[in-house]
Amino acid sequence: MNKRVVVVAGGGGFIGGHLVKKLLDLGTCHVRAVDIKPIEDWYQVSSSAENFAGPADGDARDFRVCRTVCRGASDVYQLAADMGGMGFIENNKALCMLSVLTNTHMLLASQEAGVKRFFFSSSACVYNADKQVNPHVTALAEADAYPGLPEDGYGWEKLFSERMCRHFREDFGIQTRIARFHNVYGPNGTWRGGREKAPAAVCRKVIAAKASGDHSIEIWGNGTQTRSFMYIDDCVEGIGKIIDSQIYEPINLGSSELVTINQLVDIAEEIAGIKLKRHYKLDAPRGVAGRNSDNTKIKSYLGWEPSISLKQGIAATYRWIEEEFRKECNAADAKSLATSGYSHGSKPIPGDGYVAESKHMDTWRQGIPVGYGAAG
Ligand code: NAD
Repeated sequence: MNKRVVVVAGGGGFIGGHLVKKLLDLGTCHVRAVDIKPIEDWYQVSSSAENFAGPADGDARDFRVCRTVCRGASDVYQLAADMGGMGFIENNKALCMLSVLTNTHMLLASQEAGVKRFFFSSSACVYNADKQVNPHVTALAEADAYPGLPEDGYGWEKLFSERMCRHFREDFGIQTRIARFHNVYGPNGTWRGGREKAPAAVCRKVIAAKASGDHSIEIWGNGTQTRSFMYIDDCVEGIGKIIDSQIYEPINLGSSELVTINQLVDIAEEIAGIKLKRHYKLDAPRGVAGRNSDNTKIKSYLGWEPSISLKQGIAATYRWIEEEFRKECNAADAKSLATSGYSHGSKPIPGDGYVAESKHMDTWRQGIPVGYGAAG
């Protein structure tokens, strides 16, 4: 019997790579993994998947690529997005918003191909900023996304795409599922280069401080900002449960274990067996003051919520980053890896996000898939 075909867009990325592996381990489907990155840059490559890699074959902003990969598929997981941690999304709003092409074209191609279930990876960045101004947070429930005041750029794109999923379902009948991920971390993800998120950045900085002998650490903001972090195994399990469910409205998929960034550093220090002098970089991107996941809804629907503790998850993540560090870095690198950079755009501008000089940046052409060619 032919196995059903399942598509993972963003399969060369962190969560996508783990999802592809899990689906293949289940052994019940043929997996197509799609990613704009060349295959040598994928975090995990599964040779038993059908891999569509690189700008010509794997750019899901290009509708022709979406048509090719969705043909004959029963399930589509849309995880592809041009994104990163706060340093990236605050400085690259246009690039983040261009993922609307990816979501639109994947939805359209899925609808055309008669795909049965479409999973969309949304984000806690859709939540109204006014509800996240205090580190002593009330956890965010799904209704708190409205009235809309999401993270500029990235959050707007996710909120818009959530609505598009809903209307495709209501108007065209495709069975969409939407999970709002809250800060996912774990091995085989971004840990350097400017797109990494807090857990990986903190682990890397602690490892770098150990390696360089300079026992200090740079922390973005004043360290009191609060977050919850979900370990990758919980995330992949949750994705499976949500796509198998009849939950059609957006639902939180996140841990409810709230910590400050200072506490996150405490955990990494404890694992490393070191104490570092803390320097607070107050002008660095730091995101909202506090954010946690209200899991009332997911518990009531599924009788389940993410449960892997931060200590346990960070220990595994730390070990993996340490291993990568050993393979790739020497003592001279350790100094530069003790800090995180953020680049490309100019300084974040509060309000409408307009960046006058963006037309001079080398990134502004990136919205046009190579398969479309140059303008005639
Ligand atoms: P990631 O950056 O590791 O993976 C995303 C992948 O999408 C990358 O490999 C990237 O190359 C690929 N991609 C980007 N543009 C593409 C395009 N046009 N066509 C094909 N592939 C393209 O990020 P991740 O952490 O694995 O995130 C996966 C999804 O989950 C994203 O949609 C992200 O917005 C969402 N999400 C992640 C988190 C988190 O904490 N990691 C939190 C909230 C939401």
